[in-house]
Amino acid sequence: MNDRLHHTDVAIIGTGPVGLFAVFECGMLEMRCQLFDALDVLGGQCAALYPEKPIYDIPGYPRIDAGHLIERLVEQAAPFAPVYHLGHAVTGLEPHAEGFVVTNAAGVRVAARAVVIAAGGGAFGPNRPPLSDIAAYEGRSVFYLVRRREEFRDRRIVIAGGGDSAVDWALSLAELAERVMVVHRRDRFRAAPQSLARLRELAEAGRVELVIPYQLAGLEGAEGRLSAVVVADLAGRQRRLEADCLLPFFGLATQLGPLASWDLAFDGNRIAVDPASCTTSRPGIFAIGDIAVYPGKLKLILSGFAEAALAAHAIHPLVHPGEALHFEYSTMKGVPSG
Ligand SMILES: Cc1cc2nc3c(=O)[nH]c(=O)nc-3n(C[C@H](O)[C@H](O)[C@H](O)COP(=O)(O)OP(=O)(O)OC[C@H]3O[C@@H](n4cnc5c(N)ncnc54)[C@H](O)[C@@H]3O)c2cc1C
Repeated sequence: MNDRLHHTDVAIIGTGPVGLFAVFECGMLEMRCQLFDALDVLGGQCAALYPEKPIYDIPGYPRIDAGHLIERLVEQAAPFAPVYHLGHAVTGLEPHAEGFVVTNAAGVRVAARAVVIAAGGGAFGPNRPPLSDIAAYEGRSVFYLVRRREEFRDRRIVIAGGGDSAVDWALSLAELAERVMVVHRRDRFRAAPQSLARLRELAEAGRVELVIPYQLAGLEGAEGRLSAVVVADLAGRQRRLEADCLLPFFGLATQLGPLASWDLAFDGNRIAVDPASCTTSRPGIFAIGDIAVYPGKLKLILSGFAEAALAAHAIHPLVHPGEALHFEYSTMKGVPSG
C-alpha cells in the first residue's frame, strides 16, 4: 500500500485518448495533472482493444494506427510532466480541503482541486466463457485482446465469437498463423458485410476453418499451456481442436464500479454534463470522452478532444482563483519544451 498523499491541480480518471489529451489542455493553462487507470498501459480502448487498427477520422491524420495515436498523445502530454498511476482501478473519491482526494485500489491517494472523469465505458473487462479452469490459461494461452499480432505467428489459434472482433482478428491472424479456427454457435455472424465476405472467401480457400454451430466446452493442456480446445454442438456432440491459443471475443463487460455511487447525475450509464463546460452535477467534477453525455453527443475521439479543451478552461478558475484567463492560441504560447 502506498498511503502517501500526492498533490496536484487536476486528477484525471482514465488514460484513454481523451484523458491523455486533457493533460495537454490543462498544461497549456498552467495546471498539473495526475492520472489513474485500471489498465497497466496508457491508451484506453485504443491500446487495449485495437492498437494496430487504422483510425481514419482524426483531423490531420488521413490514417493513423490507434497505437500510434496514443504514442503521439503521450508525447504531446509529456512537456507537462503528467504523473501516471496505472494498473489499479480508482476506488474512492472524497471531499478534501484542496478539493477532492482520489484513491485507487493500491492505496495511492491524490489530492486535487478538480477531478476529470475520462473513464470511457467504465473500467472494462472481458466477458469470460464459462469454462471452470480458464483462469489457469489466461495470459499464457487464452487472451481476450491482441496486443501484438506477431505473438501469434505460426500458432494454431481458436477464435470464439461471432462479432466484429472475432471476424476482424480471424482475417488479420490468418495472414501469419499456422491455423485459424473460428468457433461460433450459429451460422449468422454480427460483423461488417465486407469482412464477413472476406472470411467466407478464406474459409473456402481453406485458410480459416469455420467451426459452426459449436460452442466452447472445455480446455486441455497443462501449466497454462493449451494443447486443445474442446467444442460441442447443440446436441452435445464434441470435437477436439488442437490449438496453442484461444481468443474468446464475447464482448466487453463494462463496469462503472464506484463512479456510480459518487452522487453524479447519470443519463443511462453515462454521466450527464453541461456541454459548454463538461461540468457534472457535482461542482469541481468534470466528465469528458465516452463517459460523458449531452444532447447531440457523438462518441468519437475528436469530440472527446474538444471536451478536454472545454473542461480545462472551466477548471482554470478553480486552480487559479482570481486570475484572469486570456484565451491564447498554442501558436502564440508555445509549449514548455519548444
Ligand atoms: C474497435 C473500435 C474501433 C474504434 N474506432 C474508432 C474510430 O475510428 N474513430 C473514433 O473516433 N473512435 C473510434 N472508437 C471509439 C474510441 O476508441 C473511443 O471513443 C475512445 O477510446 C474514447 O476515449 P476515452 O478516453 O473517453 O475512453 P477509453 O478509451 O474507454 O478509456 C477510458 C479508460 O478509463 C479507464 N477507467 C475506467 N474506469 C476506471 C476506474 N474506475 N479506475 C481507473 N481507470 C478506469 C479504463 O480502464 C480505460 O483505460 C473505436 C472503438 C473500438 C472499440
